[in-house]
This record gives sequence, C-alpha cells and structure tokens, in this order.
Amino acid sequence: MSQVEYDYPLQDAAGATCTAHAWAKVPPALRPAERAELKGRAAELLRRHDAVLVAHYYVDGDLQDLALETGGIVADSLEMARFGRDHAARTLVVAGVRFMGESAKILSPDKRVLMPDLDATCSLDLGCPPDEFAAFCDAHPDRQVVVYANTSAAVKARADWMVTSSCALAIVEHLKSQGQKVLWAPDRHLGRYIQEQTGADMVMWNGACIVHDEFKGLELELLRREHPGAQVLVHPDSPQAVVLQADVVGSTSQLLGAVVKGAAKEYIIATDNGLLHRMRQLAPGKTLIEAPTAGNSATCKSCAHCPWMAMNGLQGVIECLALGEGEIFVPEPTRTRALGCIDRMLDFVRRNPAAVQPPVRGFVPNVGAA
Ligand code: SF4
Repeated sequence: MSQVEYDYPLQDAAGATCTAHAWAKVPPALRPAERAELKGRAAELLRRHDAVLVAHYYVDGDLQDLALETGGIVADSLEMARFGRDHAARTLVVAGVRFMGESAKILSPDKRVLMPDLDATCSLDLGCPPDEFAAFCDAHPDRQVVVYANTSAAVKARADWMVTSSCALAIVEHLKSQGQKVLWAPDRHLGRYIQEQTGADMVMWNGACIVHDEFKGLELELLRREHPGAQVLVHPDSPQAVVLQADVVGSTSQLLGAVVKGAAKEYIIATDNGLLHRMRQLAPGKTLIEAPTAGNSATCKSCAHCPWMAMNGLQGVIECLALGEGEIFVPEPTRTRALGCIDRMLDFVRRNPAAVQPPVRGFVPNVGAA
C-alpha cells in the first residue's frame, strides 16, 4: 500500500486555503443583454490583440462559449498546454487557475500570457510550497519525482515528470515497468488511485483538491439507489469511497467522452460542476446529476465548484486585454527547469497516443464546430 511520508496542513494559520477571498471576487451573474455585450467586446479585443482564449472545462459557461466561438479551446490542462503552445496567436488568455497560466508561459516564453484574475489559484498548488517540497525530494533521492500539473512552476522545476489526470496512470505504469520508484505530489487521492491501479512503489505528499475532496461515499450510495440506471463518472481526485463506486474513473476529457459516447440516459458526475456545461452541449438528451458533497453548511469550502475557477469572468478577459493586466511571468532558471518535466510528459504522450484518450470534439448547438 502507498506510504504517506509527508503531511502538509490543508489550511495554515493565516487561512491560506480558505476560499472566502476567492468567493468574494467571483463576478456577479449577468443578464442576457449584458452577457451578449461583454462577449462582443471580449471577442473584438481578442481579435485586435492577436489573442486566443484557452479555457478550462471548469470555468463559467460564457467563457467556454466565447473560447469556442472565437477559435480558442475548452479543454483539460493537458490539452490547454498543447493548444496554447501550438497556436499562432501572439497572446494567450488563459481562463483557469494560475498554474495553467504558468504552464502556458513555460511552454511559450515568447508569447504574452494573460489571465483574467491572477489571484485564481488551487488548493493543491497552495498546499505544496516549493521549499518544503524540495526537502521532501531531498529525503528521497532514489525516486523519480512525478508532480501533478496543479503545482507551481517552482515545484515543477524540481520534478522529473509532470502529469495530468489524463496521462498520470500511463506514465507511472511506464516508470514501474522501468523498475523506477516514484515520489508523487501533491494530490493524495489521485496518488492512491494510481498506486492501487499500478502497484508502483510510491511515496506521497498529502495534498487535496478542495472540490473533489468534498464528494461523499455514503451520500453517493444513497443517490445511486434513487437512480439505479445511472452511470457513475468520477474524477480520480475524489476520495476512495467515491472512486470505488465509479463506472468510469477519468480526467475531465475522459468523463466528457463517457457521457457523449455512453449508452445510459442518466449520469451521476463527481467532478467540478463547470464540466456539466460542455456535457449538456455535447450530449443534450442525457440527464446529468451532480454527485453529493457535504453541503453548504459543512465548511467554507466549495460544493462541487471551484471558487478559484469561478473567479474567471467575461469582464476579467476584457480588462486583461484592454489594460494589459494579469500577465504571467516565470523567471529563469525556473522556467527552463520546469519545461523539462512538461516536455517529458508531452513527449511520452506523443509516443504513446493510445495511453491518453483524445479530447472530445463535436458540434455545439447554436455555435458551430468546436
Ligand atoms: S478544482 Fe480543485 S484541482 Fe482544480 S483548480 Fe480548483 S482546487 Fe485546484
């Protein structure tokens, strides 16, 4: 079984992982006329600044639609990184959280990378400070250091491999086949899932995503009884009691693919509910049910929606382009060092395309090809 060798508190004395600050910065809901006007302005600014919008599945539906309508992409973090690197635009506007903007800058140092709100972060990134992570690595010099994409550039600079949830399993399987031992960080649930699937020798950091960590096994069991025909789709950042009930365990792209291609009419989804926007577009006839969390009263944490992803809005896209604000910089030599572990992953995926399920593409009602 896996070893947990390092325990980092999920919330420090200063409340570093408290989400109240993030929720306070979430843009208000827009009326239809405001939405249309802001989308038009944002599209015009993207054109004028030779910019492309690279959006994550968890951000607001308006941003996802704007990305697709203007030639950008809505994707998981692996595909976001590849798309931004390969696109001809001089400016990338990354709608997501900070590590995604950093990854874009690491891969595309000559492009300008902007984000709607630089305060948008991630509990996994916050819970893995570079100095303490370096000490953890120093204590295990015989292991390949494998870090999730959800980490700072400084943590990636210390790693041998970066992985996303799309390719983590295949890469750890590959390392095990080479006789390598693994140091894994920071998500303990994904690490445990991979260790169970591969049997690899892994020591782990003790981090968690505050969204997926909230899904509850018992409540899911009760919900499944109410919907006996439903397929259960679970992101592997979720706790074991939830993963064990899954019909499909996978990354956001893989869960989206399972809904689009699946024969069932109903799906219970255990991941950030931002993904349901794209699922509804690509599988309009299917019923999507959010997996249960602890509920609003339990903590200040989110309930199936990431507060940092929610900070991204149309107004933020307009302001970062119009004012040149929210630019991401990654200093040297951190950038070059971090590039090594990202390139290693991209090279592995290129050589082993079957290891990673391709992103789902298709027609979006009223929008066109996506
Ligand atoms: S959903 Fe979880 S893993 Fe993703 S950015 Fe938010 S806190 Fe991080």
